[in-house]
Amino acid sequence: MRIALAGIEHETNTYCSGQTELTDFYVQRGEKMLRAAGQQNALGGAVDACLESGVEVAPILHAFAQPSGTISAQAYDGLKTELLERLSDAAPVDAVLWLVHGAGVVDGIPDLEGDLIAASRQLLGADTAMAGVFDLHGNITQAMASDLNGVFACHEYPHVDMHVQSSEAVAHLIEMVTSGRRARCTVVQLPLLMPTTTTFSGPGKRALASVLAAEAENDVVDISWFHGFPFTDVAHVGSSVVVTSYADGASLAQQVAQDIWEQRESFRPDVLNADQALARAQSLLDGSGSGPVVINETSDNCGAGAPGDGTHLLRAMLAADLAGRACFGFVVDPATATQAHSAGVGSTIEVRLGGHTDDLHGAPIEANAYVKALSDGRLVLQHMYAGAPLHLGPMAQLLIDGLDVVVASRRSQTFDLEPFLAVGIDVMRYDIVALKSSNHFRACFESLASAIVTADTPGLSTNQISVFERQASSVKYWPTSDDAAWPADAPDRKIVI
Ligand SMILES: [Zn+2]
Repeated sequence: MRIALAGIEHETNTYCSGQTELTDFYVQRGEKMLRAAGQQNALGGAVDACLESGVEVAPILHAFAQPSGTISAQAYDGLKTELLERLSDAAPVDAVLWLVHGAGVVDGIPDLEGDLIAASRQLLGADTAMAGVFDLHGNITQAMASDLNGVFACHEYPHVDMHVQSSEAVAHLIEMVTSGRRARCTVVQLPLLMPTTTTFSGPGKRALASVLAAEAENDVVDISWFHGFPFTDVAHVGSSVVVTSYADGASLAQQVAQDIWEQRESFRPDVLNADQALARAQSLLDGSGSGPVVINETSDNCGAGAPGDGTHLLRAMLAADLAGRACFGFVVDPATATQAHSAGVGSTIEVRLGGHTDDLHGAPIEANAYVKALSDGRLVLQHMYAGAPLHLGPMAQLLIDGLDVVVASRRSQTFDLEPFLAVGIDVMRYDIVALKSSNHFRACFESLASAIVTADTPGLSTNQISVFERQASSVKYWPTSDDAAWPADAPDRKIVI
């Protein structure tokens, strides 16, 4: 049995200025994809599952770019053409596993995954078993699901189970090829723009538990609850439920969607600006030595397309009396990192730190900075996506007015301790640790923080979703409209097959 692995993976924030080009993608072709073996991400999980099952892998092409603006038509066309040519060359294959996100947007093509999967279906014919592993932040469409025989979104946010979903998807493909049966996918979309909501605790955890209970109680292959990606202006934006089953999954999908819809008010976020978050964090310091209070600046999350060079929270921390008690990891600023590397450890430099991308994320911070440590920024993730490389480019630890500030050259959110350790910082020695991430950081920090406080400053990944103008859809969404209703006011958003 031969299973092809392929995908173009991108979470597109259409509110970003500038487009995402081919050079922004990290592209693995053919055998190089097998290097992901052992990594706890979708590709690594797929390779591992195929090898462990004795299935022959046909590695086609996998392209990934950090979340960013709309993909240029030229970039997508180049990747799609090459991927389909390689898939054609690899034929015959018994099955295809797609490693995709679900919120990809191309200039002129609002549904990247739908377009790509439909083209491959046309190429391979109706009989080839095809399934997809998705990020739960996908905005799922009829086009995506109707050409697939299985949809497997990660259940958890942080996405600590992506490799598990790949393993389940491979097992499902093997079962379909062996039995000759083909499952189908039923999608129910909700007019729901979910703020970033962790499944590790609180309402997200409770909602996930009810989804998993429904999956366990019913004779289905999988139920995926897609939170959706609200920072995208497309007609199909929003949360959805997808049931993969051999029998009709429509009523079950409706029932699970109804259950999530009824819980929507519990997802309404607690919004604190930088000063409020800092005050909350300081009020939570108990001197027990049970770990730092972690402040996550959710609104400048590179993992949702924000630049990572915002200065709102850092500026508030510099204005507070936190010398020797707080660290910030990290600000994306390649020019300042280069400046620090040129000057060397032990020098003092005049910096204009951060705030270079636009006006929204704050002005540059002008200060004298002592260069405490430097790093090449070549890291390996240790918690979520454990084993996957993360290259942050030249990094520096700067001491600014007594605050330890980490600077990196390449965009990423903070997933774990590695960006701190790279420049010699032990976060356990601080009262307050600040970072830029919405929820993925929890996979590491939840167990070592005494408390977590979310700061929602002006930024491209703010939880204040009503600030984003919607031109592509006239649907009334929760929580941006008081009149949001389902299914009454959204007759076009009912079941699709
Ligand atoms: Zn995600």
